[in-house]
Amino acid sequence: MRAMQSTRPIIGITPSPVQETSPAFGDVVFHRMTNTYTSAVETAGGIPVVLPATYPAAAAQVVSRLDALLLSGGGDIRPSRYRDTGPQHEKTYGIDDARDEWEAALLEAAFAVDLPVLCICRGIQVLNVSCGGTLWQDVPTQMPGAASHKQPEGGSHLTAHEVAATGLLADVYGASTIGTNSFHHQGIKDLGAGLVACGTTLDGLVEAVEMPGKSFVLGVQWHPEAMFVQRPEHEAPFRALVAAVRRGALSVAD
Ligand code: MN
Repeated sequence: MRAMQSTRPIIGITPSPVQETSPAFGDVVFHRMTNTYTSAVETAGGIPVVLPATYPAAAAQVVSRLDALLLSGGGDIRPSRYRDTGPQHEKTYGIDDARDEWEAALLEAAFAVDLPVLCICRGIQVLNVSCGGTLWQDVPTQMPGAASHKQPEGGSHLTAHEVAATGLLADVYGASTIGTNSFHHQGIKDLGAGLVACGTTLDGLVEAVEMPGKSFVLGVQWHPEAMFVQRPEHEAPFRALVAAVRRGALSVAD
């Protein structure tokens, strides 16, 4: 007799590749993320599974084993992916082509089967670029009238600015104003096709997007996973992701 299966949804999370020197193994790449991502998924009722970049052609196969997808924060996207082919901005950093390609393939596969998707920080930028949108390579030096989006190091649970919420974001948080942290230097410039802004800061930067054609696609520019322990309202995006999985499973069962 098979053991009773867990009903917790399996949520794939993409890590950041980080080159470091290991005392034992020399120069190696660590597939890294903070435990706050995995804890937030567990708190919301999911099981986290880490998805390091691999063959993009395998994305549909991987997605078929997942209940939901979470794109995490990290370095910048190669600007040519959003048709920015001029000189690279001096602040653009951490480009990893394998990760860019892997996350683009995962999103395409997820959209094809309407898998619930949550995109955080770099993730909202990957989502926007995948839909044909563009980015500010450096918000403080390029975006007219930009407020500060880099709060001091430490205290990542602290509020740096407010986000005016509408649509899906307002529904998820049950609020029209959300205090968020801010640790990004890039941001959405032109919105991608099929995306609708649902969160904006006072300076006009789009910090949350949804995809109305899908059952659940939410991108946020801040880091709710770094806030939810001290400020439980930031569990909301993770709980909404799990709830979207459960709604999908119910509609299949019906
Ligand atoms: Mn911000």
